[in-house]
Amino acid sequence: KESRAMKFQRQHMDPDGPSNNSNYCNQMMRRRLMTEGRCKPVNTFVHEPLVDVQAVCLQGNITCKNGQPNCHKSSSSMKITDCRVTSGSKYPNCDYRTSQKKRHIIVACEGNPYVPVHFDASV
Ligand code: ADP
Repeated sequence: KESRAMKFQRQHMDPDGPSNNSNYCNQMMRRRLMTEGRCKPVNTFVHEPLVDVQAVCLQGNITCKNGQPNCHKSSSSMKITDCRVTSGSKYPNCDYRTSQKKRHIIVACEGNPYVPVHFDASV
């Protein structure tokens, strides 16, 4: 079974990206299996080395959106792409808007080793 840490990498890590095109989210949301059963409404990909994203678990500790205490905010801003399903999108034809940003990321971390398992927000 896929671990939570591996699921985070599948859903949120694209260190070598982004291919600079407006179809990025349409392609990546599908390729990373987030359009199976439903169109996942929002998702962020991070374009930084995995070690740098894992290191966020050692950076500033904050409360997550769901009230859990295990969130961490990156001390540096990171290259990200936000994917948001369009209002006209109809499953199984999942259609996304692609927006590239540089933001501080907030991830929830769990386990030993203490690694990212959920993407909470970018600020
Ligand atoms: P994401 O939220 O990164 O888009 P999922 O919702 O598929 O991806 O998975 C998040 C996973 O992280 C779940 O297994 C959830 O139990 C776990 N998790 C651990 N801590 C938190 C937290 N503080 N907030 C939300 N999910 C968390």
